[in-house]
Amino acid sequence: MKDKEKKEILPERLPSRKNFIDWYNKVIELAEVIDRRYGVKGTFVWMPYGLKIMKKLVRTWDRLFEEAGIEETYFPLFVPLKYAEQNDSWFEGFKKNLYAAVPFLGDNAQEKLIIRPTGEPAMYPMFKLWIRDGKLPIKIYETVSSFRLEGKKTHAMIRDREITYWYEIHTAHKTREEAYEEMQKHIKINENIWKLLCCYTIKIEKPKYELFPGAESAIEFYVLLPDGRLLENGSVNNLGQAYAKKFGLVFEDANGKKQYCWQICTGNGARYLVSTIALHGDERGLVLPPALAPIQVIIIPIFKKNSTEIEKIANEVADELKRNGVVANVDARKDKSAGEKFYVWDIKGVPLRIEIGEKELNCGKFTVFRRDTKERILVEKAQLCKFVKKLLDEEIPKELYEKTKRLAEEKIKYFENIVDALKWIKKGGAAKVPWCENIQCYEKIVSMDEGLDAAGSILHEHKNSSCCICTKPTEKILLVGKGY
Ligand SMILES: [Zn+2]
Repeated sequence: MKDKEKKEILPERLPSRKNFIDWYNKVIELAEVIDRRYGVKGTFVWMPYGLKIMKKLVRTWDRLFEEAGIEETYFPLFVPLKYAEQNDSWFEGFKKNLYAAVPFLGDNAQEKLIIRPTGEPAMYPMFKLWIRDGKLPIKIYETVSSFRLEGKKTHAMIRDREITYWYEIHTAHKTREEAYEEMQKHIKINENIWKLLCCYTIKIEKPKYELFPGAESAIEFYVLLPDGRLLENGSVNNLGQAYAKKFGLVFEDANGKKQYCWQICTGNGARYLVSTIALHGDERGLVLPPALAPIQVIIIPIFKKNSTEIEKIANEVADELKRNGVVANVDARKDKSAGEKFYVWDIKGVPLRIEIGEKELNCGKFTVFRRDTKERILVEKAQLCKFVKKLLDEEIPKELYEKTKRLAEEKIKYFENIVDALKWIKKGGAAKVPWCENIQCYEKIVSMDEGLDAAGSILHEHKNSSCCICTKPTEKILLVGKGY
């Protein structure tokens, strides 16, 4: 009878990682990250475990932004339509994705409102007032939901209609140089976040003609997912004076002359989690980087005889780990078998598991299971805490990062010839090709296959060659592949 019950609880198997989206959708459901069954397309419910992961990430960026002198704010969800229309070229491009906020019992005479699609239409009219009040530079951010009507297929946390836990940093400066320096800081902050997530990323310089008219430059972070597709994952934008001119962000310089501000905006959000889940996960479920794991060590007492003694030791081990700054929990549930517990915590991606049973009691050593490599290691009781700390702080993050780097190196290949590159992309890879950065060559490449994402030039990577389209000599390298 008992065995039968167990079988019903035990594994709903994950689809193969080869069908990435199927695997992804199932793993976020089984690990209880989110529930996708909410009745509005492009939205989902954050489950307690998923929210704990997300909030750990949010607290990380809160700290990093605060350290960089960027302060948190909150702007209303409602944005007057007239604010949005101030930026006419933005509005033209964006209006098909906007939601309107209308009173339930409609009254057409009221002022038209839209629901926040992105920060700047709400923020910059306020910037104008703050600058007039003498507040420059301005360095603020908010972490909020933004709303966009996505026509294409939606994917939870990849492409949503409610983009949850989205942060946007917006700054305004008196000089171009100061803005440029600020931009470099935002790039560094992003690199630090990616380091904690143990993910290999590629920095891309967006082509000039893909920028907002008048903007200076943009750096985008790209991650290669296991299915060989490229995921744009965060951007740092040097807006120049483009938005300042639209919103009238002017200050008086030392000579009493009116000048427009220089601005940087940077954004990302739950997509960080998508890459983390996608790159580290495996056929058993999530594999969380220690910095993001709500539980870093799960201790499983294996009850047979001596269960009181075993549970006592399990609690002692947990207490010692906690005293040393490790987030450890004991799963002492008596109605679940050890096997069921292994399964559940494996799916949830807990970095380390310590098993304490009869055998461990007798030999004075504990079995430590590494979720990332699936190794089982016997560790002396006296060495346990030090051993766990070293794994969490150094060895697991290093191994996770190296794995994502190896994947990128294996899947992203360099080709001199665009036809060979496209063949490789068809086989499930991404490609680097030499290119001259001209718009004609860009458009030619993008038109060569459906869904191609020609991201832009790889930052700090050069090679003497000739453009794969027009053969003009160049040292720039384009990252190209299928996108999401
Ligand atoms: Zn060319």
